Amino acid sequence: MYEINKAAVIGAGTMGLGIAGQLANAGVDVVLLDIPAAGDNRNAIAERALQRLLDPQQPGLLHADCIERIRIGNIDDDMHLLRDADWIAEAVVERLDVKQALYQRIDAVRKPGSIVSSNTSTIPISLLVANMPEAFRSEFAITHFFNPVRFMRLLEIVRGEATRAEVMHCLEKFGDERLGKGIVICKDTPGFLGNRVGVFAIQTALHAAFRMGLRPEEADAIFGRPMGIPKTGVFGLYDLIGIDLMRDVVKSLVSILPANDAFHAVAAEIPVMTRMIEAGLVGNKGGKGGFYQPADPANGVRRKTLDFNTLSYVGAAHVVGNPHAGDNYAWEILANTLSYAASLVPEVNESLVAIDDAMKLGYNWLQGPHEMIDAIGVDNFIARLEKDGRDVPAFVRTAAGKSFYRVHNGRLQYLLADGRYRNLERAAGVIRFSEQRRTLTALEENEAASYFDLGDGLGLIEFHSKANALGPGSIELIAAAVAHASDNMTALLIHNDAQHFSCGADLQSILDFIASQDLDGLDRFLDHYQQTMLALKYAPIPVVAAPSGLSVGGGFEVLLHTDKVVYHANSVTGLVESLVGVVPGGGGVKEMLYRWSGQHGDVTRGAWSAFMNIGYGKTARSPLEAEPLAMFRSGVDLYIMNRDRLLATARREALAMAGAYRAQRRGPLAMPGREVYAEMIAWLKKARARGQLTPHDVTTGTQIAMIVTGGDIAAGTELSENDILALERRAFGILGATRLTRARIEFMLEHGTPLRN
Ligand code: NAD
Repeated sequence: MYEINKAAVIGAGTMGLGIAGQLANAGVDVVLLDIPAAGDNRNAIAERALQRLLDPQQPGLLHADCIERIRIGNIDDDMHLLRDADWIAEAVVERLDVKQALYQRIDAVRKPGSIVSSNTSTIPISLLVANMPEAFRSEFAITHFFNPVRFMRLLEIVRGEATRAEVMHCLEKFGDERLGKGIVICKDTPGFLGNRVGVFAIQTALHAAFRMGLRPEEADAIFGRPMGIPKTGVFGLYDLIGIDLMRDVVKSLVSILPANDAFHAVAAEIPVMTRMIEAGLVGNKGGKGGFYQPADPANGVRRKTLDFNTLSYVGAAHVVGNPHAGDNYAWEILANTLSYAASLVPEVNESLVAIDDAMKLGYNWLQGPHEMIDAIGVDNFIARLEKDGRDVPAFVRTAAGKSFYRVHNGRLQYLLADGRYRNLERAAGVIRFSEQRRTLTALEENEAASYFDLGDGLGLIEFHSKANALGPGSIELIAAAVAHASDNMTALLIHNDAQHFSCGADLQSILDFIASQDLDGLDRFLDHYQQTMLALKYAPIPVVAAPSGLSVGGGFEVLLHTDKVVYHANSVTGLVESLVGVVPGGGGVKEMLYRWSGQHGDVTRGAWSAFMNIGYGKTARSPLEAEPLAMFRSGVDLYIMNRDRLLATARREALAMAGAYRAQRRGPLAMPGREVYAEMIAWLKKARARGQLTPHDVTTGTQIAMIVTGGDIAAGTELSENDILALERRAFGILGATRLTRARIEFMLEHGTPLRN
């Protein structure tokens, strides 16, 4: 009965622009209104919001053209534009009086059967709609998005007392399928789930660090990657959000949480932070710094940390000189935060899964609190809490001798407050492989990757190395999986549920070859890589990949050898090898040459396109950006908004292709040869003379030119796929022997950004 085809967003600040942007990304026409600005341009606020959506640092749109779907205005002149909207999302300042007054005005113009929702973080729904008629209240809910809306996966939805089930159902389905969010249904309790646990965790980490005398960089080295938490840690996160904004968030939680809530113990303002705010040291947005002053590796500037006595920035201390302090710090945070999270079951939410999802999707934790307790072992956790004389939450006691999650009769289940287990059911079409894999046994497995039988004749390759970098183990596994699947399966999937599909070839193993001057070993590794990619491409069964996050370098080369890719909408793709002074050596140059040549209907033009794009290491930040770069094949590849739907979609696509599938062999390419090669070298020299390329860019570009033209051969000379692969390996070897490539790789490994030498 409820269906959303057109939408409106009121409030064009950080959240409103993000929501409008994501609606536009989903192909929905949206009206975006703010208050009228003083001066001639009454729509100036909303106009500025559109500019922010195009921010190159963090684009809110899949493609600049999506902006066409957003119509801007102001609430004095354009309220009539709301008449068409099926959903009106309110994202104005966090003030009850402002929101209440706005709802009166919305109700005067909205059409019957439209849904209204608020993005409030702290105001109870009962207060928001206290003055509104029943009809409005029945079509009202809270839809709480996270910042930045395009990238944060969590959408918390809160039902009011009067909200219709159909309204909830519509928002849930629309939020999941169209906006691509992971939905967590919350009760109308303070901070809902994400911020309730997330802000508690941050505050616990902050207070413990000050109490234990840890420097920011020491604390963040623990409350970060080692704990499965984003590497910003706590101090970095404070800088990112804004130290002043976090103070307001904490204050508002203090004002709405019950007096006996454990949050109050970690909410006191830290004196040095008050001084920081007074001095304008509010974090990244202020320009003066916060706890840190960011690094600038290109200019050899390392990250500095604030000295709390002088409020000036100093070089980082040696991280965690005392491992004992690190252990204590980690335990203090875990004991406090995991207990707090578990204490919310069942009153704040019956389902521990909702809490775990909120932390994974809203705070990017690798594991939810209950998964972390399982990893520690429930009984170990209880024993250590008791040893410290800490309280053991009732729900943790319920789990004693058991675990919060278990696999039972092939199904993943979770514990309820009464001690029974319930099957973990997700919406139809939602499959998280991180959950499904717990019910499966790998057919092949090593430290870098695994191969599973999913049933229905489907095999699946999963990467699970650090950043899913591809090293010898990954290639080994792919080769074994292709061989097995070719004989036993009807289709092969490549997918993982990690943040990034794959950040490329494992640079450390490449550096090891180079540093030990084992260029033969490097050549053998690349040869195996290339032949495995060919086996993937020419397997007798269809191969479908379903990536999300980064698929760059070697990771993208894997995608280049599949029959179809089902992308997540925020996927980043590109062959970025030149940035570390090498060439794509796993068939990437060859594949792009075939693709561009096919697209242009001309090998010479194809060679130029491949040369330019690979030379610059171009990346696309969405499938829409990838298409004009020949990285996304329209009519073949797909993209979808919700990461959690990738696997089910890929399954369906693979099964549909399976029956009639025939691998298509390709003939040799008639290469452009030495004249075009000379033109490319001339181009490189000119660009160098103009100061656009560094010396080593020219060296690298020369090798790319050699591959895409064939080098010193006559125009029209035919090269087979294996001939071109040999050129890739030769180029890789030549570059690998240079001092400057080695410097680029070492710099990337140390700083995570390219060296321009
Ligand atoms: P913001 O200050 O960036 O933007 C608020 C916008 O609302 C401003 O552009 C302001 O001009 C406009 N506005 C004020 N009164 C208005 C009115 N009567 N009609 C139309 N526009 C009006 O705030 P924000 O961070 O985008 O937050 C918006 C809402 O989302 C708040 O309820 C906040 O609690 C909630 N929220 C914020 C975040 C976050 O991380 N920033 C996250 C989740 C929820």
